[in-house]
Amino acid sequence: MERCLDCNSLLTKEETVCVECGTKVGVADAGMGDFVSMIVSILFYLSAAAMVSSPFVSKLPSFSVCFIVTCALLFVMRTAKDSATKVRRR
Ligand SMILES: [Zn+2]
Repeated sequence: MERCLDCNSLLTKEETVCVECGTKVGVADAGMGDFVSMIVSILFYLSAAAMVSSPFVSKLPSFSVCFIVTCALLFVMRTAKDSATKVRRR
């Protein structure tokens, strides 16, 4: 037995939408958010690594470019995590 996260009514396993309040049940949306935030996290660590090593490796983009990309990804990562938790709370 599963319960609706929003109104706490009982649902069968086959039901993907709550009959009481219409909230989507299951982890499909949250899983998608987790997937996106995971990708962004990986990109963030890659760009952070590129930023650290850019002064030593000439093939990499300049330090300032990596810094901007890292900051942008950090912002996206936080936004993605926020929206993922919002989806789960609903
Ligand atoms: Zn409900």
